[in-house]
Formats: sequence, structure tokens, C-alpha cells
Amino acid sequence: MSLTTSPTLLSIDELRADFPDRVITPDDAAYDQARTVLFGGFDKHPAVIIRVVDADEVARVLTLARETGLELAVRSGGHSNAGHSTTEGGIVLDLGLMKRIEIDPDSRTAWAETGLTGLELSQAAAEHGLAIGFGDTGSVGIGGITLGGGVGYLVRKHGLTIDSLLAAEIVTADGELLHVNVESHPDLFWAIRGGGGNFGVATRFRYQLHELGTILGGMLMLPATAESIAEFMALSADAPEDLSSIANVMNAPAMPGIPEEAVGKVVLMATMCWAGDVEAGEKVLAPFRALATPILDAVRPIPYPEIYPPEDPDYHPTAAAITMFMDHVDEAVAQTMLRYLEASDATLRAVQLRALGGAYARVPADATAYAHRSSPIMVNIAAFHDGTDADRALRQLWVNDLAGELNQGDDGAYVNFLAEEGPERIRAAYPGRTWDRLVEIKARYDPANLFRLNQNIPPEPDAD
Ligand SMILES: Cc1cc2nc3c(=O)[nH]c(=O)nc-3n(C[C@H](O)[C@H](O)[C@H](O)COP(=O)(O)OP(=O)(O)OC[C@H]3O[C@@H](n4cnc5c(N)ncnc54)[C@H](O)[C@@H]3O)c2cc1C
Repeated sequence: MSLTTSPTLLSIDELRADFPDRVITPDDAAYDQARTVLFGGFDKHPAVIIRVVDADEVARVLTLARETGLELAVRSGGHSNAGHSTTEGGIVLDLGLMKRIEIDPDSRTAWAETGLTGLELSQAAAEHGLAIGFGDTGSVGIGGITLGGGVGYLVRKHGLTIDSLLAAEIVTADGELLHVNVESHPDLFWAIRGGGGNFGVATRFRYQLHELGTILGGMLMLPATAESIAEFMALSADAPEDLSSIANVMNAPAMPGIPEEAVGKVVLMATMCWAGDVEAGEKVLAPFRALATPILDAVRPIPYPEIYPPEDPDYHPTAAAITMFMDHVDEAVAQTMLRYLEASDATLRAVQLRALGGAYARVPADATAYAHRSSPIMVNIAAFHDGTDADRALRQLWVNDLAGELNQGDDGAYVNFLAEEGPERIRAAYPGRTWDRLVEIKARYDPANLFRLNQNIPPEPDAD
């Protein structure tokens, strides 16, 4: 590929010849759809979107970005909360066509390309009675979620997604393809397990899969009272590790199965996932079901991939949000949540509670770049806004105020739930020595900060 050296001379004709039918520019009919990412509010206009099919093509796009100086956005599933997988006037490297999967049922491992979504890989693994945890939403790309950590429906049983990561193939800023695992480039392997897209483009991951067929899973919706919320969290913390849950205290949306009289009321809407013996699971779930008369109880034996809720591809929400960790949710804490949720008139507002522990907590904090292993509860607070500056500011204020009231002294943050929040919050994702190690490794693999459109770890110690 012949390259230009100035942003103004990006040669689209040459690119079209080099990546046949896979270069999209503002002149193309497919442009508007191709530049759209999941979250609304990121209305950016890339100069070019290039859909790559292999590591060699990734390296060529990196050369293009280096030589033109154009901003580079790396996109796997396009679900970045911060809008990092699109760019104004830059290059989008879109991995979405790279969906090859190789599963070895004997070793229970999979090589998976990073254009896959969590649901796609889960469905392929399920054909062999195998599974791996990603997040709570099937359309999230395995690229972004894995590189940041991955907290999902199997977190207490099998830990984060990165706790099942055995190896990766990474194209670094200079275009070299590295095979990375505990023995080969161990520093990089440590960094990509939580450090995000700062170190290169991941083209393939090798995962350890886990035997899992039928789970006991689905939605359990209960009336939200201070007692039901506090007791739900106490039961979740004490439950066997086979149980992971994601509980949203929120205003009930209008959706199939939810009685009309509950819609709009603040409820406890939880997704339960019991990944063990079904009969034993019924016993563990009984006290959750007995907390109050359920508004909806859809927890039943299902194949694991069915835990992912159906999605509307045209859904592009705009939301103010904040992520944090908490130590406990007692009745007083739950009461604070209820007070805020009931006072808000955002079309959707929620406090999401994820009880951690189990396999997640057994990994030493310094074993990967995800260091929040001793935090018992992950919390996400969100309020939808209408896209205007005024409403965005109003909802953000509400979110921040509530987060302030709920803060119990753990100032950590999960990188994959950060929005565009500035360097201090990125530091919060990487406490203590984790940050210093990441900066050192960044300086080694990406000294010019080619991969900077992300929750950025700068290559110089004091750059932030
Ligand atoms: C609806 C929704 C639900 C979510 N639920 C969960 C959840 O339950 N648990 C959880 O842990 N997270 C969850 N997340 C957060 C999610 O993990 C992050 O937003 C993640 O970054 C999305 O990955 P992606 O590949 O879809 O996004 P993209 O926007 O494509 O990528 C995000 C960033 O990751 C980097 N990146 C992506 N792919 C690569 C790659 N192959 N190589 C190098 N860098 C790459 C880039 O920096 C990119 O800007 C959720 C997000 C959404 C929108």
C-alpha cells in the first residue's frame, strides 16, 4: 500500500484498491449506518471506516494512522460508554468482520476473533456444552469487554472474562503481530487483562471455556423496599458461587411479562444466573423468591446463552452514568437509593448492584491489570437524558449526588464502565502500583501513544 504523509492527502482511491469493498467514506450510502455506535450522543464523522479481515490488514491500517497522523478509533462491538470507537475526521479500524471461532472441545478452549460479540461466542461454545462469561448484554464486543475485564453472569463462579483468558494475538503500534501469554510477553499479557486498548489491537483471544449446559436463569422482579434490597444483597453475598446476579433498582420499563400496574414504579429487577445443579439452585433461589411476592418470576432452566436479553439494534440511548464500588448495602443505604430513584423523573433511572466475591475475589489484585478484587459490590448509577446539554447536566448532577451519598470510601472504578470522565477517574481504575506498571508497559509498546482514543494510559509517568 502506498501511503501519504499528510492528513490532507489521505488517498481514498488507494485505500479502496487495498481493502476492496471494505472502505466506507462520507460519500458512501452505508456511511451513516457504519459510523453509528451503540450509545447515542456520539455523532462523529470519521474520514474513513476500514473493515479489516485479518492481522495483516490491521497492521496496514496502523501504518496508515501512524503516517497520516489521523486519530485512530479501534472498534470491536462499538459499545464504548465513552464513544471511543468513533472519531471526528479520523480513521475507524472496524474489526466487525473478524468472526472466526475455533473451539477445541477436548481442551475446552477457543480461539475467537475480536469482531465477535459475547452472544455469538456463547452460542458457538454452547454447541459443545461449554461457556464463558462476558457481560450482561449479548451484543457487547469481546474485544472491548475482555481487554477491560469482563463482569457478567458467571463472575462469582469463574471470575472475570480475563480470568479465563489464556492468550491473545496483538498487533502493536509498529505493526508487529505478537503472540501473548504467560510465557510470551508476560508484561503485555498482564497489561491487556484490564488495561483496555492501550497496548495494541487484539485480533484473537484464546479462552478457557467451562462446562455448562442448562442454567437456572432469568428475571426475578420484586417490589423494591429498603428491606428487600438489603436482604437481596445479603443473600447474594452469602450464596454459593454458582449464583451470580445483576440487580437493578429502577423504574420498571414497559415490557412483556411486566404487569401494567408495575410499570414506572421503582422495583428490584434482577437477572439471576445459577450455573450449577438445577435442583440445588431451586433451593438457593427460594429465599430470594420469598423476599416479597414477585412481580415477575421468569427464572427457569434455560441454555446458558438465553440469559442474554433480546435487543433492538436501533436502540441508541443517551445516559448520564457513574460506576463505583461499595462494601455493603444495608437498609439505610437502600433507603437512600429509593429516595433518589423515586424523586427523579428521568425516563429511566437505575442503581445497578452486582455482588462479587467467589472466583472473582480469589485472583490476587496484582495478577492482572484489573485490581479491584477485594471490592464486594460493583455499582452503576444511570439516568437517561434527552440529549440536550441542559438535561444531560441535570441527570449527571443527580447521578453524581447519589454516588456521593453512596460512597463508602472505595474510590475505585471499573474501566469498562467509565464514560469520558478525565484522567483522575482513569487513575481510579488502576490504583497504586497498577498504574505505574501500566505506564511502563505503555512506554515499551506504544511510546508515541498511537492508541490514545481510549481510557488513556500515557507513555510518560506524569503526562496526565
Ligand atoms: C449495553 C451495555 C452493557 C454492558 N454490560 C457490561 C457488563 O455487564 N459487564 C462488563 O464488564 N461490561 C459491560 N459493558 C461495558 C463494555 O464492556 C465496554 O463498553 C466495552 O469496552 C465494550 O466493548 P466493545 O468491543 O463492544 O466496544 P468498542 O466500542 O468497540 O470498543 C471499546 C474500546 O475498547 C478498545 N477495543 C475494543 N476492541 C479492541 C481490540 N480488538 N483491540 C484493541 N482495543 C480494542 C478500544 O479502545 C475501543 O475504543 C456494557 C456496555 C454496554 C453498552
